[in-house]
Amino acid sequence: MNPLIENGKKFVVDAERILVFSGAGLSTESGIPDFRSPGGLWSKYNPADFYFDKIISDKNARVKYWRMSSESYRLMRDAEPNPAHMAIKTLEDMGKLLCVVTQNIDSLHHRAGNSPEKIIEIHGTAFSVSCLKCGKSYNRDDIERSIDSGLKDPLCDECSGILKPDTISFGQAMPEDKMIRAIKYAGDCDLCIALGSSLIVYPAASVPAHAAKSGAKLMIINREETPLDSMADLVIHDSVSKVLNEIVSA
Ligand code: NAD
Ligand code: ZN
Repeated sequence: MNPLIENGKKFVVDAERILVFSGAGLSTESGIPDFRSPGGLWSKYNPADFYFDKIISDKNARVKYWRMSSESYRLMRDAEPNPAHMAIKTLEDMGKLLCVVTQNIDSLHHRAGNSPEKIIEIHGTAFSVSCLKCGKSYNRDDIERSIDSGLKDPLCDECSGILKPDTISFGQAMPEDKMIRAIKYAGDCDLCIALGSSLIVYPAASVPAHAAKSGAKLMIINREETPLDSMADLVIHDSVSKVLNEIVSA
């Protein structure tokens, strides 16, 4: 067997409290493009259009934002967990999973069957929508139906406030309670496995960095190099579903 896989297997066998940190690369094999790879969302859209300040102050920016967001939500709604998501579920079944801290908004860790209390979605979820003024919550599919019937900038039916999916945009405050929990778990885990993330989006990437600094082993599985590779105990540059499935099923 590939010595890197052998090593990864040993890390998992020895670990008792694993923190999985996941990014958009975990879900590309479920058909959801990431941001930065060729063919990813940033090859079609300009990220500068989607800053939170712009979305809330400029109707044209909001129309563009909803076009991008609806397109990616529909892929997420129809996607299925891939073997990497299922391997993470197996880690929970083995009693080794402390938690999954995910940057993903696609709900695929839930769909794979991990317990909701173990999943921390630090960038929120695409599956619900809220009014930024009164807080009223909406089902995403109801909003998508109104977009299908021609609405380009959906507004709240109670107070006419701006509606936005419950995801964190650039420049929008992170949910403080979730970040505090994620950092606490990073300090408690004995193995952190970072999967399919460029590890350049902060403060999210501070979670695996904090785990490593607190004494946990750090394993990174990603197709490309990341800025945290030099602090990791094991780095595998390959397909996350192939590698994780081999490590966990072995
Ligand atoms: P990213 O796009 O910055 O990085 C993804 C990384 O995964 C890249 O380094 C890429 O080389 C790697 N990768 C892609 N497919 C892979 C595969 N099959 N196997 C191994 N590696 C693979 O994504 P990020 O670091 O997660 O951060 C970007 C932000 O994008 C996050 O905030 C997240 O909220 C958002 N996002 C989420 C989704 C989703 O929910 N599925 C999709 C797109 C973007
Ligand atoms: Zn409202």
